[in-house]
Amino acid sequence: MNHDDILFGILGNAFHCPAPGEFEFLENALITINVEGEILGVAKPSEYNNSPIVEFLECQGRILRLTDQQYLIPGLVDLHCHAPQWPQMGKGLDLPLYNWLENYTFPLEARYQDLDFAQHVYRDLVQSTLSSGTTSAVYFSSIHLEPSKVLADLCLEKGQRAFIGKVCMDNPEHCPDYYRQSAQKSLYETEAFYQYVSGMVGNDGLVSPVVTPRFIPSCTEGLLKELGQFATENECYVQTHCSESDWTREYSCQKYGETDISIYERTGLLGRKTILAHSIFLTERDTQKIQEHGAIIAHCPLSNMYFANAALGTREILDRGLHCGLGSDVAASVTPSMLRSCFDAVSHSRVREEGTSARLASDVRGEPGTRISFLEAFWLATAGGGKALDKPIGLFQKGFWFDAVLVDGNIQDCDLKIWKALDEPSDILEKIITTAHRQNITKVWVKGKEVISKNR
Ligand SMILES: [Zn+2]
Repeated sequence: MNHDDILFGILGNAFHCPAPGEFEFLENALITINVEGEILGVAKPSEYNNSPIVEFLECQGRILRLTDQQYLIPGLVDLHCHAPQWPQMGKGLDLPLYNWLENYTFPLEARYQDLDFAQHVYRDLVQSTLSSGTTSAVYFSSIHLEPSKVLADLCLEKGQRAFIGKVCMDNPEHCPDYYRQSAQKSLYETEAFYQYVSGMVGNDGLVSPVVTPRFIPSCTEGLLKELGQFATENECYVQTHCSESDWTREYSCQKYGETDISIYERTGLLGRKTILAHSIFLTERDTQKIQEHGAIIAHCPLSNMYFANAALGTREILDRGLHCGLGSDVAASVTPSMLRSCFDAVSHSRVREEGTSARLASDVRGEPGTRISFLEAFWLATAGGGKALDKPIGLFQKGFWFDAVLVDGNIQDCDLKIWKALDEPSDILEKIITTAHRQNITKVWVKGKEVISKNR
């Protein structure tokens, strides 16, 4: 390796999960990063001790030495987040989905045509998600073009990898008059947003446009077909909601006599770059179609507990090797933290496995063998999410982009307590997943660029 290729190096302890359920502890590793933000190498002490590389970087002031209470983890991937719902977080979770949308979400999302409001909220959102360690975020915006551009500009300015879609909804049956566009306008603005993001100066692939039909009840069949054709022609990412609840499943059955997956496939919206939030009520044929197309499931565990009426088959999805990651589904979540999503994914699967009714005998109460582990959840939020998006992120590995989060256990008044004499590396990683909060995240990098630095 030519030392001049190195932009900077980090020397310290790191964790990552190369496969579901497996982790590696990279003890006192030297991670080197080039000017493009790619990882040049991950060296063990035995590999760099006899080399002048550390001294060289030290002389140039290009090395960060971590303390023994600091740990690097890969940047976190949020596959499903509603940007305009940021001010709604923590409100109305006691309502069914339909009323939640009608009473809270649609009136709020309609406000974003006010660009000052959009600037104010989106600036805070992007800062907060980055500060929580979310280095890649898949965002639904509102139905408006100009505010969606504001969100794209802010992600680029703040350095967050983002996949953003201007929401499309044209069905008068299920979209209020004040928050609906014609199919023609939806398509026109989808194209305009695609052009805008593709042409953003300095973008270099950090922000990607996403074709975004909200969900089946909000769109006419004509609009779905137009969007499907546009996404296919432009090889674009697609995001939508899929079989989220009894209500949405029954809507598709009654109106079309089909499942959501069947409708998305028929309209050209199901492909390798399609991100399907939720996907709770899948038939076997639906699952096969998702696998055949290589589409992505965004599991949003806390949201599912409030709005889905049933649990996702996360265990089965992992065992079948479907592309899957985690989503916060803000504002059907009370935090943007993807570490919290990991915790919720495990709790969700544990309740499913054990069952809930104390009146039933234990052998018929739950669904045995359906839990997932903390390491599997963490894989979903890092390498799994990266693999699903087909981006080289989520691992500390040569050739991957350096998207990373620095977790510090030496913060006053926090829940992350690491006891060196008691905690093995596996314990430390589990504690980071389950107890680290935003205050423990002191630095964040996206593609080698430091985007968060909290001086303590
Ligand atoms: Zn959602």
